Amino acid sequence: FFISFEGIDGAGKSTQVQRLARRLAALGFDVVTVREPGGTPLGETLREILRNPVREMDPRAEACLYAAARAELVDRVILPALRAGKVVLADRFTDSTLAYQGAGRGLSVELLSALNAFVTQGLSPDCTVIIDLPVAAALARVGAPGERDRMERLGPAFFSRVREYYLHLAGQDPTRYLVVDGGRAPEAVEAEIFRLVKEALGR
Ligand code: C5P
Repeated sequence: FFISFEGIDGAGKSTQVQRLARRLAALGFDVVTVREPGGTPLGETLREILRNPVREMDPRAEACLYAAARAELVDRVILPALRAGKVVLADRFTDSTLAYQGAGRGLSVELLSALNAFVTQGLSPDCTVIIDLPVAAALARVGAPGERDRMERLGPAFFSRVREYYLHLAGQDPTRYLVVDGGRAPEAVEAEIFRLVKEALGR
């Protein structure tokens, strides 16, 4: 069973991935968590490049680097784990490309979807948790100076497009996408995600 987590920067994805992993492990599931970009030696190197670019990157180059990291992660980590019957939780996956490089940076969503299908070998999450938060609230939460600089440079309009695109995806496929309100206390968000995921897992 494969679950991806999506949302704008500052929504609280990473915290909730860890919390859900603990809860599912306590139910007896064998859980693997991964983060994008990263999770493999190549992926971690690409993460460094994407985090500290020499200068603002061409959006096409950016899309390809995320895609390369994903190809490696799917082939080396996610598919083997799923074949072994594990539950995989991914902190970001294909929808990040559509939302950030598509809606955010203005690249063709159709082309990016084809790129996603190529690098994932057709693998798609069984369910996707979208942690939704207004942009201003997310901006206020992002703490680390480098991250904050980046968000301020991209601007609130960029993140509004990303957020709206996530909500648009959720509207297209309400059975796959679980939208949770990320504006509450982490414990409340955690409890709701756990309840929804247990339902999706049939437990
Ligand atoms: O929130 P997280 O730490 O997972 O995101 C890493 C950074 O990469 C974020 O600043 C996010 O905006 C960016 N990102 C991106 N395009 C993607 C995935 C992440 O610009 N496809």
